[in-house]
Amino acid sequence: MEIDKLIRTNIKNLRPYSSARDEYTGEAMVFLDANENPFNEPYNRYPDPLQRKVKEKIAAIKGCEPSHIFLGNGSDEPIDLLFRAFCEPGHDNMVTIDPTYGMYQVSADINDIEVRKVKLNPDYSFSADALLEQADDQTKLIFICSPNNPTGNLLDKSETIKLIQSFSGLVIVDEAYIDFAPGASLLTKLNQHENLVILQTFSKAWGMAGIRLGMAFASPEIIRIFNRIKYPYNINMLTQQKALELIEQVADKNQWVDLLIDERKKLAAELINFPFVVKVFPSDANFLLVKMHDARGIYEFLVENGIIVRDRSKVVLCDDSLRITVGSTEENRSLLEKLNELI
Ligand code: PMP
Repeated sequence: MEIDKLIRTNIKNLRPYSSARDEYTGEAMVFLDANENPFNEPYNRYPDPLQRKVKEKIAAIKGCEPSHIFLGNGSDEPIDLLFRAFCEPGHDNMVTIDPTYGMYQVSADINDIEVRKVKLNPDYSFSADALLEQADDQTKLIFICSPNNPTGNLLDKSETIKLIQSFSGLVIVDEAYIDFAPGASLLTKLNQHENLVILQTFSKAWGMAGIRLGMAFASPEIIRIFNRIKYPYNINMLTQQKALELIEQVADKNQWVDLLIDERKKLAAELINFPFVVKVFPSDANFLLVKMHDARGIYEFLVENGIIVRDRSKVVLCDDSLRITVGSTEENRSLLEKLNELI
């Protein structure tokens, strides 16, 4: 794959903004280069634009090099940067599965990029050939999501590899929920496929949705392109500090994941007993897709009682289905108790 052919000409020719902290990165006694205020340490200083310390720690736990990592304001930032770097507005297109996470479409729409959706099979599996059939010379990106939102299932690995090997543009695999499907990440394949971009996030298993920190893993060439077009200080100091702190507590994250997988099992087993529940779809994520009679009515009943789930009943292949996040034991019990009132 020649990334040079894939990148938009204006981005290839761009002279990126060079911040004071890009030009000088060492330790100094006196910093008079960035028009900062000398008072109010440490918040008076701009944060590291390339988040080197955070990336080192992430690289250590993920078993990759820091040069393969981009950090964004949530995964939503790299999703947007992919369109801005590789898709010519009003001309190029992207292909994705349907249903899937809504931001791929929103980001494409904002960037005026046509979206070609390929319906999943009725069992929520996908076919690489069906996606490739929709692709043409103007297709620069293919987005898939595994485990998929809102269906909850992992996508087949060999089918995904086939897609990556057969497509001449970039294949983005969104692994936001991968920690709930242990051992399934494609990260180990990163070095073998230079057109692969993997998205992960601190918002789910790590319990840090509030600090807004998303990761993209890709070849150093692709990461360099992201770094050229991102806002200079896209990850603020508080987020970097908190991430450094919390990454140390990987044992907590692993414990939460184990607990949530256990709760997912219990919740699924309880939900299927309700007479109005038609099906609880198997889940590799921290949520359950549940098909039920009068899903909208049940959604509204739960809202009236202060329990908020996601109504997916109008989403393709998800008719009559609610997406229910697996909460704490107490939260799940509250949900089940409320549903019991409907019997
Ligand atoms: N990818 C998927 C599949 C998601 O479901 C979500 C959030 N619901 C995200 C990405 C967004 O993650 P972040 O908080 O990192 O922007």
